[in-house]
Amino acid sequence: MRFSGLRILREGLTGNKGWTPHWRDPEPKAEYDAIIIGGGGHGLATAYYLAKNHGLTNIAVLEKGYLGGGNVGRNTTIVRANYMLDGNSQFYSHSLKLWENLEQELNYNVMLSQRGHLMLCHSDGQRDAYARRGNMMHSQGDTDAELLDRDGVRRILPYLDYDNTRFPIYGGLMHWRAGSARHDAVAWGFARGADARGVDLIQQCEVTGIDIEDGKVTGVQTTRGAIRSRKVGIVVAGRSGQVAAMAGMTLPIESHVLQAFVTEGLKPVINHVVSFGMGHFYISQSDKGGLVFGGDLDFYASYAQRGNMPMMEHVMEAGMTLMPMIGKSKVLRSWGGIMDMTPDGSPIIDKTETEGLFINCGWCYGGFKAVPGSGYSFAHLMARDEHHAPAAKFRMDRFRTGYGLMDEEATGAQHNLH
Ligand SMILES: Cc1cc2nc3c(=O)[nH]c(=O)nc-3n(C[C@H](O)[C@H](O)[C@H](O)COP(=O)(O)OP(=O)(O)OC[C@H]3O[C@@H](n4cnc5c(N)ncnc54)[C@H](O)[C@@H]3O)c2cc1C
Repeated sequence: MRFSGLRILREGLTGNKGWTPHWRDPEPKAEYDAIIIGGGGHGLATAYYLAKNHGLTNIAVLEKGYLGGGNVGRNTTIVRANYMLDGNSQFYSHSLKLWENLEQELNYNVMLSQRGHLMLCHSDGQRDAYARRGNMMHSQGDTDAELLDRDGVRRILPYLDYDNTRFPIYGGLMHWRAGSARHDAVAWGFARGADARGVDLIQQCEVTGIDIEDGKVTGVQTTRGAIRSRKVGIVVAGRSGQVAAMAGMTLPIESHVLQAFVTEGLKPVINHVVSFGMGHFYISQSDKGGLVFGGDLDFYASYAQRGNMPMMEHVMEAGMTLMPMIGKSKVLRSWGGIMDMTPDGSPIIDKTETEGLFINCGWCYGGFKAVPGSGYSFAHLMARDEHHAPAAKFRMDRFRTGYGLMDEEATGAQHNLH
């Protein structure tokens, strides 16, 4: 089934009775050429690109809950490529280019809105750091980075607190091609595309064990029986440590909860995505009008998929500091997701010591924007057994050797600070 303007018009006039389900609900087969554990954004995108770019179609995605029920449907939807360090810079730039053609690629409206992302700076040092970051983006080819001075920021965001004596606004780094997308539509679009290419998307199927013989993966144990495969990809975000332990691995990952908040619908007031440079607070406005915002991670490690009151208070305080007008709006909902935090804040896309077993994790709080790029590169690695150039630096052994660490925030090896 293809979506088109004509089709929407026809369905609208005939009672919307002609739509069919986006994907099948197949029973698991006894064996697949490749198994992806985890039906989040990265798992679904990997399956899609394995089928589309590498011709593998006998693939299963095994999801313990429902497709899109994890972080891919819980994030604050920011898409950007304003990374600075070698490795991250190429990868996120590649991912943003895939985003820019994703709706045509998937024939699915993921509501990508390139409304611009502004990172505010509040000191001379921070302005210098942003100038450096903007220059790195330009040299990577992302020439939409623009350094704004205080008046430049005031022209587009007149309601910020410019008189705040503790955190005066000096300006900001604008990344015009950044923005937001509808998060669960991204999961649905990739799921639909993968299913159309023959991938079995199996929900309510938790992987409980990974079978290994003579150093090679042979399949997985699940709540719906054993399934054989000589290629298995672990793509389970916040649960990475637990699933990797099934293969005897200890990952350099801590899981922490990150919360998000949304207010009642308001008239358009925030045109861009805005990040506070002195507190971990960021905000945008959804197409429905709700202000969508978030802040710091919970400071302690946890697998609870819900947030806590102290962090809620902390985020609200940061919001009020930057944008006092926000106090007039009413928060409607909040939720939490489990983040797979690495010590340098950058991800892992790699082989493991077990032949045929691959791992994709460590996206921290920034893996939504990575979905197309990560799926593309991980599919390349799984299909060809060689790293895809834009993701070639995401090796796991950097945490053992110390060589090639990519600490964008320069906060050191404390997982929750990235
Ligand atoms: C509040 C919040 C805000 C965020 N904001 C942003 C943002 O603005 N921009 C951005 O780029 N990123 C953001 N992120 C991060 C981003 O959402 C994640 O990095 C990314 O979604 C993780 O990859 P995923 O989509 O594959 O994860 P998930 O959707 O969590 O997928 C993993 C899947 O694996 C499944 N699974 C786990 N264990 C098993 C098992 N044993 N067997 C089978 N299946 C299993 C889970 O059920 C889950 O569905 C945010 C995250 C949160 C929580």
